[in-house]
Amino acid sequence: MTRRLFWEDAYIKEFDANVVSVESNQIVLDQTAFNPRGGGLVGDIGTLNGAKVVDTAKSREDSITHILEIASTLAAGKSVHGVLDWDRRHKIMRMHTSAHLLSAIFNKETGALITGNQIEPDKSRIDFSLDDFDREKMVTYCNQANEAIAKNPPVKTYFMKREEALKIPGITKLASVMPPEVKDLRIVEIEGYDLQADGGVHVRYLGEVGKIEPLKFENKGKSNRRMYFTIP
Ligand SMILES: [Zn+2]
Repeated sequence: MTRRLFWEDAYIKEFDANVVSVESNQIVLDQTAFNPRGGGLVGDIGTLNGAKVVDTAKSREDSITHILEIASTLAAGKSVHGVLDWDRRHKIMRMHTSAHLLSAIFNKETGALITGNQIEPDKSRIDFSLDDFDREKMVTYCNQANEAIAKNPPVKTYFMKREEALKIPGITKLASVMPPEVKDLRIVEIEGYDLQADGGVHVRYLGEVGKIEPLKFENKGKSNRRMYFTIP
């Protein structure tokens, strides 16, 4: 298992690690600050010993694979220095935390269930199921989200026993349920607004998001709705 430094501190921008395995352009380290793609988030990019990392993915046995642009000359046992593309990653953290907040508000106001999300640095989308679709109301919910951001509540992460966590209503609104062998679920709490089981990266205080700007609302069939948003 790769030690997930981004769970201990999502603000680590550079780190040292040891190479566990190398297969062509795919590198597994003993620890990493690179967050893998999954749960709607794109994978982190950056460098390992100066070589470009173009994507990060989950791989077998809970390890994390760094995908390099070209085949690596590194070997198992060597030490490496990793550097994240921090501007991009911080945008992902802001976008992802926004998606939690928007999902919580949509769910509270309309009962809508979140069916999917795609978090990217410049534009993100949330899919939800909702019969009554009113664009003006949607804009109102985005305004509510921005009011919450202005109050700057803390965003906390901690682990909770699976049985306890799954008793909390709406705990898995956004993320897919973690596999049954996972005994402790990682919880992300926007104090006063949302509680989610989630393995992603988030900002420490909601105010760091800045401002959510809705871009487009789409009807994707009978009750499927999609919202695109950005954070300028
Ligand atoms: Zn999250």
